[in-house]
Parts: sequence; structure tokens; C-alpha cells
Amino acid sequence: MKYIGAHVSAAGGVDQAVIRAHELEATAFALFTKNQRQWKAAPLSTATIDAFKAACEKYNFGPQQILPHDSYLINLGHPVMDALEKSREAFIDEMQRAEQLGLTLLNFHPGSHLHQIEEETCLKRIAESINIAHEKTSQMVAVIENTAGQGSNLGFRFEHLATIIEHVEDKSRVGVCIDTCHAFAGGYDLRTEADCEETFAAFERIVGFQYLRGMHLNDAKSAFGSRVDRHHSLGEGNIGKTVFSWLMKDKRFDGIPMILETINPDIWKDEIAWLKSEQKR
Ligand SMILES: [Zn+2]
Ligand SMILES: [Zn+2]
Repeated sequence: MKYIGAHVSAAGGVDQAVIRAHELEATAFALFTKNQRQWKAAPLSTATIDAFKAACEKYNFGPQQILPHDSYLINLGHPVMDALEKSREAFIDEMQRAEQLGLTLLNFHPGSHLHQIEEETCLKRIAESINIAHEKTSQMVAVIENTAGQGSNLGFRFEHLATIIEHVEDKSRVGVCIDTCHAFAGGYDLRTEADCEETFAAFERIVGFQYLRGMHLNDAKSAFGSRVDRHHSLGEGNIGKTVFSWLMKDKRFDGIPMILETINPDIWKDEIAWLKSEQKR
């Protein structure tokens, strides 16, 4: 069973995101549980939490179909202690908000060394941030997203993801989300079926499918290996449609949220319908 959806707006309240996902005929969705460009947000009210849970129940979305994304401001590998503390506090808040909503997954970008510390130091720092957040929650799984490797962002090599996981104490509560645009821009080809086989064989060898907790389905405006993060609609970019069709037929991607972050929300419903139809062909 594939869970397919999009990163929908939570304008008007997190419960509205559930309704928007339902309107897209999605079987998965992503959302921000607070404004992603601000550090602080008011705590979720009991009324909001109840409305979210009621909507999820009404429209048949379980926690395994929902992949909240944290704020873009957070850098769990920050080289400067004060800033690292601020990020860790904000991340714990994000984890606790998700947990209050009855969710189990939180998707985040691993972090950046800002050219001030070694890669390895930064990756260990990210793992330590996850360990701290685990202590403050009981069921949350930290889902590390691979990045395009723009600037000093880590997480664009599968080895980076593996190193972070290696230093996380509770391995049952860490996972990864693979973004197809980021992988392609980071140097993992996905243009042909043979490329897909090779890329995900590398993923299995270096990270392992047991850690795969989500996918972001995006074509790329950016070029192969460019380390530039620019999403495109499916089939409109430099990757092409083959990978998305291939993913829909591969059982290793069952049971996890597969989320569109493509650039034209007006065609999400069509993109979701097309993905669903590719599953059966
Ligand atoms: Zn992301
Ligand atoms: Zn993504």
C-alpha cells in the first residue's frame, strides 16, 4: 500500500491541512505545525489538537501517513553553542507539538557546518541533538531528510545519513526521508530505471531500507550533481517521470508517506492521481 500526498498549507489551523489533503484525494500529507520562518509559536490549544485528531479520524489518516516538517531556521549541527542551543530548543518544541497531535514522525534537514567545524564534528553534533530530543519525547521518530548539499548543508551523501544514525542511541526512533530532487542535485542519478536501481542499491548498502520513513517526490529544475535545490513538477524537470513511475511499482516504498513538494499546487490533485495510476500499471 502506497501513501501518496503533498505538503499542504496549514493556514487557518492544522486541522485545515487534513481537509486540504482529503480534497486532493491524498492518502498522505505533510504540514508545518507552526510558521516555518519563525522561531516561536503559541502552544497548540486543546481545541486545535482535538480538531486535528477528529479530522484525521474522519478522513482516515493515521500517524504513519503524516510527515510534519520542522522550521527551516533550525540547524542541529550549528558550530556556535548559543545558536545550537536555540535550535535544539526549537526542535524539541517541534517534536513535542507533533507528539501532542498524536503523530510519530518529524522530518527535518540535518544541519550545516557553516565552514566553521569539520563535517564529522557537525554530523556527531546533529546525532547528539537527536539524542536530546528523544529524551524529551516518548514516541517521536526523528526523520532526517537528504539534502541537495547547497552551501554548507550536510546530508547530501548517504554516508552523512549513516554517520548520524550511527551516533544516535535509540535507533528505533531515527529514520530518513529521501527527496528525489535533493538526491539528484546531490549526485545520485534517477533518470533511468537502471539509475534508480543503482541509487537505491547504494542507499540499501550505506543506510538501509529499514530506516526509510518517508519520501519527497519532486522533479528538479536544478542540474544533475549541481548541489542546487530547485524543485519542479513531475515530468517537467531534469529527472523526468521514470523515477516516479518506478517508485510506485517497488514494494520497498510501501507504507511510508510519499509527499509532493512540487511547485504548482494547482496540479497536485492530478499528480497524485497519476502516481496512483502508475502503481497499478
Ligand atoms: Zn525538507
Ligand atoms: Zn524535501
